[in-house]
Amino acid sequence: MKIYISGLYSGTSPQPGIGLSRSLRIAYPDATIIGVEYSNRSSGIHWPKFDELWLQRPWEELDLAAYGELITGLLDGGALWISGTDLEALWLASVFPDGHTNLLSPPAAGLSRITKPGVEAHKGLPLQIPPFVSTDHSDWDMHAFCRKHDWRVWLKGPYYEAVRTRSWDQFEAVRSALVKVWSTQRLFLQAHVSGYEESVMLAAYNGELLGCVSMRKRELTEDGKTWAGDVTEVPEAFAASLREIIRDINWSGGAELEMIRDPEGQRWLLEWNPRFPAWVHGATIAGCNLPAMLVEAATGIPAEKTTAQSEEFTRVVLEVPVRSRYPLPPLPEPYAGGIGHSMKHPSGMPALAERLHKLHPHLMSANGSGANGTRAEKPTGVAAIPPSFMRDLAAQDYDQLETPSFLFMDTTAAGLFDRASKLARRISTLDTLVSNGYSIKTNPDARLIKLALDSGFFAEAISLLEVQKALQVGFKPGQVILNGPGKWWPAGLLPKDPIHAVFCDSIADLKRVTAAAESGELRSSIFGVRLRTPHITSRFGIPLDTPEEFRTLVDSVSLLPRASSFGVHFHMASSNIGVRQWWHLYQSMLRWCRSIEKLTGRDIEVLDIGGGWFPDDWHEGREDDFTKAVMHAKATLPHVRQIISEPGKAMAQPSMALAMRVLEIQPIGEDSTEAVVDGSIAELPMYFFYPHRILRRDVATGELQPLKRGKTRLMGRLCMEHDEVASNVELPEGTQPGDVLIFCDAGGYDRSMSYVFGRG
Ligand SMILES: *Cc1c(COP(=O)(O)O)cnc(C)c1O
Repeated sequence: MKIYISGLYSGTSPQPGIGLSRSLRIAYPDATIIGVEYSNRSSGIHWPKFDELWLQRPWEELDLAAYGELITGLLDGGALWISGTDLEALWLASVFPDGHTNLLSPPAAGLSRITKPGVEAHKGLPLQIPPFVSTDHSDWDMHAFCRKHDWRVWLKGPYYEAVRTRSWDQFEAVRSALVKVWSTQRLFLQAHVSGYEESVMLAAYNGELLGCVSMRKRELTEDGKTWAGDVTEVPEAFAASLREIIRDINWSGGAELEMIRDPEGQRWLLEWNPRFPAWVHGATIAGCNLPAMLVEAATGIPAEKTTAQSEEFTRVVLEVPVRSRYPLPPLPEPYAGGIGHSMKHPSGMPALAERLHKLHPHLMSANGSGANGTRAEKPTGVAAIPPSFMRDLAAQDYDQLETPSFLFMDTTAAGLFDRASKLARRISTLDTLVSNGYSIKTNPDARLIKLALDSGFFAEAISLLEVQKALQVGFKPGQVILNGPGKWWPAGLLPKDPIHAVFCDSIADLKRVTAAAESGELRSSIFGVRLRTPHITSRFGIPLDTPEEFRTLVDSVSLLPRASSFGVHFHMASSNIGVRQWWHLYQSMLRWCRSIEKLTGRDIEVLDIGGGWFPDDWHEGREDDFTKAVMHAKATLPHVRQIISEPGKAMAQPSMALAMRVLEIQPIGEDSTEAVVDGSIAELPMYFFYPHRILRRDVATGELQPLKRGKTRLMGRLCMEHDEVASNVELPEGTQPGDVLIFCDAGGYDRSMSYVFGRG
């Protein structure tokens, strides 16, 4: 008996080859076991228990047709082949579309049913698929997905690799790296599921399930790979469903279903791997030798008995002698920041992926581009542009426009403020008034402040200069809210008449506010505190992390003027921490308020809940959520009579666009392009935090066309390495130097934090 086994890499992210050989050696002591590899960097080639080693040329050099024939010859001659890598299994499926009696890996039809992330074949098992979105969708939609899932998301390649991306710039960097490594644009983002990792491994032959076993990871490497685990039987109900699925997809070979069990006990399927896992021998130690069952089924030759030694296994690190015929390769050439990188894919999987993409594009296309496995229409990658944007932008005079410059979008801005004031009115109740406050710092443009005034907003200021600006535009002191750690700057600008509310950012600030109130310098209808909820990193507000801090807060509140109302302010940007987590914090904050109320004996009459909303999360379909938030506040804090929300960027961000002109366009290599524009990150400093929807104006027709996904980089005019304003777009055909590009969504911090740079 001759058995070929591939996938010998034995590092911290190992392949199953070594484990397979150990398990098979127990079952078939006299078999000739031959290790197959494609790189002399794969440590497993030195495993002393292989009878022979078959070291091939690397995947990028192999003559695949000849190699396929060679393997056909081996299989026809009676040898068995167990593939230890996903991509080799995929390639073998293309060589043997209907399988081969001696090929112990799945046929093409079966493989097509397990592609990530939808994993069609899971149906019938008590498993769910974590929400995901294909990167075919627009950047705008992907950013929304990340916010929705609290930035607890993984960017995954179609075969290997998953990287947690906690921010937009990280997402962009990982995306371009994975696209390069795996030669595909088809990645997907998947929501993180918290819980414990477990797997089911199985072996099947010609659609018959031979055996399966469960394993829980009990010790993990830094990459989350198994280091130790416990092995148990698969419950019969699960095995029965699996048996049917295996028959249905006519599986042959090993497989592993990787899952997470969440705290409620629900299991989530992450992957269905078309091969045995690297921990295969861990199950053999527990008495379940699946590779042996597979070989027995394929050959009819009875395997020696495997005896169980322990239900738990662990890995150890072993030094083995290097085979004298294959001395260690030279050290990889070092390059900046790339320590150890050559060991990441030692078996040449990226090279094989690239070749397979060219050879068998259909085999390599991932399924399920819609969320949750529904095969939606293929997304275009272009974000929807609101009709009011198009109207406002069409009304601008581009011929006279000096670029770069910000365009104010009148009807869009007016619509946003109108919607906000209507919403506040709608969710107000008889005894609780809901109001808005416009955060001036977000964009202090007088047109926006005026819209806020006309829409019944308060003016929310973080400095006395901002207070003065509000007064100039027409606000009365009684419509002003003063907030933040630097609210006394610059000295001497405090209005004489009472303001609406002041919130203390620290105990020191509270003492200063109290002193100013006592001296008559500061008058306000509401005196309040800003809370810093525990376990969330923030430099603002009064901390509550320890009993001492809480006691100090409670004691200090008693200093605030009794003649005015007491209020609490809370502000955490949901655009950073995510929408779900924001609501969680909101609930937690209400409970803290309840304790403060009880311990200070002061009623909380005003709740001011800050801003930090990404526009779409604030404006779209949130009415029910906000209604519930009001109900919740009233139920927890019965004395609340006013709730103020302080949207800043939810109002300002969509209200302006940045127009710039193309300076130069240059093709780079086969299919990518670099263009230089006269805008820059000096006008678009939020480039690193969220995507902007971009349009190009056709000079001839005046038509505004949204930019599609593509391989063009738009580089700013600044002589700065990181001055790039878009990285994966396509300029519409016929785009010329001089053409205007319009970056929407630039009316918030892009506008207010833009700086003068490179203008002489
Ligand atoms: C900045 C700020 C806001 C507005 O935040 P956005 O992120 O612009 O929505 C609201 N309230 C306070 C106290 C602020 O400092």
